Amino acid sequence: MCKECYVDEKRITPLLNPFDCLENHTQYICGTCGRCICIEHDQNRGLQRWNFPFKSLEIAKLYLRTADYTTKKSCGIYEIKSKNGRLSYKIFEDCEDLRVYLRKNKGKICETMAPVFKVEGYEEYPNTQIRKLTSDEIQKYMSER
Ligand SMILES: [Zn+2]
Ligand SMILES: [Zn+2]
Repeated sequence: MCKECYVDEKRITPLLNPFDCLENHTQYICGTCGRCICIEHDQNRGLQRWNFPFKSLEIAKLYLRTADYTTKKSCGIYEIKSKNGRLSYKIFEDCEDLRVYLRKNKGKICETMAPVFKVEGYEEYPNTQIRKLTSDEIQKYMSER
């Protein structure tokens, strides 16, 4: 596992429409393994990808580094259950953040109220870059997938 971005598949992200994401969105470029993680704020609500729910814990892990980097602390991935029993995974800064979310989303619960995954001890790394890729870099990155 990459110590900086917590994932061992160095080119797995972006998952959907990778060219579009790499071309148009600001990326967290892991200074250790080179993986690009979308860190763009959406135009409507200013939210980043990591603010939204994920279908699986594995996918949520792909984005956890951008949450930690943005908040400058160790965020946690929490398992959220909907009324219909469906599970999703959501990243929160801490338990208080989770409580606020649950108060606003009455149909949702978190059974354990504890993170299912978290990387203790937030660290910064010297070679991290936050920017859009050049078209040459996009070609290279995609050829390495
Ligand atoms: Zn993107
Ligand atoms: Zn990495």
